[in-house]
Amino acid sequence: MRYYTSLVDLIGDTPLVQLRSVTSHLDPAKAPIVLAKVEYFNPGGSVKDRVAVRMIDEAEKSGALKPGGTIVEPTSGNTGVGLAIVAQQRGYDCVFVLPDKVAADKISILQAYGARTVVCPTAVAPEDPRSYYQVSDRLTREIPGAWKPNQYANPSNALSHYESTGPEVWDQTDGRITHFVTGVGTGGTISGTGRYLKEMSAHRAGGPVRIIGADPEGSVYSGGTGRPYLVEGVGEDFWPEAFDRSIPDEIIAVSDRDSFDMTRRLAREEGMLVGGSCGMAVAAALRVAEKAAPDDVIVVLLPDGGRGYLAKIFSDKWMSDYGFLETPGAITVGEVLL
Ligand code: PMP
Repeated sequence: MRYYTSLVDLIGDTPLVQLRSVTSHLDPAKAPIVLAKVEYFNPGGSVKDRVAVRMIDEAEKSGALKPGGTIVEPTSGNTGVGLAIVAQQRGYDCVFVLPDKVAADKISILQAYGARTVVCPTAVAPEDPRSYYQVSDRLTREIPGAWKPNQYANPSNALSHYESTGPEVWDQTDGRITHFVTGVGTGGTISGTGRYLKEMSAHRAGGPVRIIGADPEGSVYSGGTGRPYLVEGVGEDFWPEAFDRSIPDEIIAVSDRDSFDMTRRLAREEGMLVGGSCGMAVAAALRVAEKAAPDDVIVVLLPDGGRGYLAKIFSDKWMSDYGFLETPGAITVGEVLL
């Protein structure tokens, strides 16, 4: 019999898949190979499973998280799912503190995994006792045995990528990777994977792997002020501790329009139903590919799947409401645009 004793054992070891259609405009005589690291193969459906299990392992080792303890984290998305899965498998409670702008579906997913959720008003200042930052701090103080992972400052975030994502990409490409492209949210993925790849290739004849961040236009990483953008999970209005600024060689800003356009193309042309930050990263990777050499190997990381974005990026109505789709007309399930 071949089986796993826990879903947690399935975290990592995600495949590399060549992008062949969205790269077809590149001159075949000069085009590099572009490979997607498809993170929706993780059991929680995103790259954040890696971070969740590493943060919990470390907290168990240090004693910060004791048997029967409670994990308290202000997160609505992928990190919450990863934490919830590992927590239930190891007998911890999870409390997620969320702002009230979070979509009901996302709250339902966390609850489905057995987590408790506390919803706080968005329209208050961060220092207001009702804000989700303050509430998560208070719950961490008040719940006996509570522990707050804080992915924005937790060293295990980048370390999980240094220990898993980086070695996987290096081995899967037989050390031939020349460029690594990834979106930047907390900065954990780029800092950990990038550091590993740079160390491994430091003395290589062709030079070290070039590490390229993809960032929504408006975010601070690409020189913006933090002004709003619609791509989720990436970009910030502050510089988190988890982000090692010495790692990226370049940050490429991508517009919402280009990110969403590429996200939809990935589903229709490559069969990859992925999230908006994946389209953003691929849009940046193609800009890199346009200037690359024929024997270059570009790896672009796709953080999550697309099911959580059906009502947004994959809805023609939503896309045209935001002005991203000039010629609606494609008929999608459940909504017919005339
Ligand atoms: N895309 C999505 C959908 C995410 O949830 C995240 C994590 N915030 C990222 C990209 C960015 O990854 P990181 O936090 O490691 O920079």
